[in-house]
Amino acid sequence: AEQAEAASLFWTRSAARHDDLERALSLMSDLDDAMTAGHIEVFYQPKLSLTVDAVTSVEALVRWRDPERGFIGPDQFIPLAEKSGRIEKLTLYIFDGVLHDAAAWRARGHDLAVGINISATLLTSRSFNDAIERRIAASPVPPATLIFEVTESAAMDDPDAAVAALRRYRDLGVAVSMDDYGTGQCTLSYLQLLPLNELKIDRSFVQFAHTNHHDAILVRSTIDLAHSLGLKVVAEGIEDAECLHFLRASGCDMAQGYHISRPTPFAELMTFVEHRKAAAA
Ligand code: C2E
Ligand code: MG
Ligand code: MG
Ligand code: MG
Repeated sequence: AEQAEAASLFWTRSAARHDDLERALSLMSDLDDAMTAGHIEVFYQPKLSLTVDAVTSVEALVRWRDPERGFIGPDQFIPLAEKSGRIEKLTLYIFDGVLHDAAAWRARGHDLAVGINISATLLTSRSFNDAIERRIAASPVPPATLIFEVTESAAMDDPDAAVAALRRYRDLGVAVSMDDYGTGQCTLSYLQLLPLNELKIDRSFVQFAHTNHHDAILVRSTIDLAHSLGLKVVAEGIEDAECLHFLRASGCDMAQGYHISRPTPFAELMTFVEHRKAAAA
């Protein structure tokens, strides 16, 4: 019986793997068409500044709206695009959309900074970094309002190359943020070496910080550590008022999460930001 169970498990698993593979291949063969058709969209999630109690920046988060498959989240296609060599073209496409939207909200009088997620593999791509530089030079959006979000594991893949790439972004005037902090293996000495402006504490630590004593200690000491390195701290994944209150009391600089706003399309972001401004005035 044990053997039969193992065999059936094996077959279900390989069937699942086969389905996954089919789905992955079909998704990736449609990605170019999806970009051309305008099915790849950029949503924006506000980051609330706790020091000035206002939305001062947003994060760009990609979504794929497919007419047949429905809505596809980035976790389902970004890793595939990275593995299949399509991430460079996709990221430049997203970056163009972000520069376009940022120029539009600036024209409406909103001075918002914007975070863009940059995959590990792109840090060392010369063609990508050259293309980014050309786009920044050609855009009316000030580079100082751009924040490149790089994950902790990306920075650890090839530390020397990561430092060089991040320096180049900083020389362009772009700010650099370490995303998902706490989930990787970044040592304190290495953290000190990286040219960073901001550190984002991973949702997994933030979520229960107001109810779990252990998480509270981790979050508070990370905030202190970041501040002593001269970095601004963003807490991600704030889902309720109690959590937000805890972070405010702990000296966190910025907060992001469903409690403040979900990621939304450009038009809804404008409504959100304009309502908040009107309420504050
Ligand atoms: P991330 O950069 O760490 O983004 C945060 C993720 O947490 C987003 O998921 C966001 O929608 C979600 N989130 C925000 N607030 C809350 C909350 O209060 N509760 C919960 N449960 N979740 C929250 P999303 O949009 O599905 O993106 C997932 C990941 O995909 C991102 O993680 C990022 O690593 C990647 N990604 C998204 N857009 C891009 C992109 O344009 N380029 C690249 N390379 N990666 C991207
Ligand atoms: Mg991010
Ligand atoms: Mg994150
Ligand atoms: Mg993440």
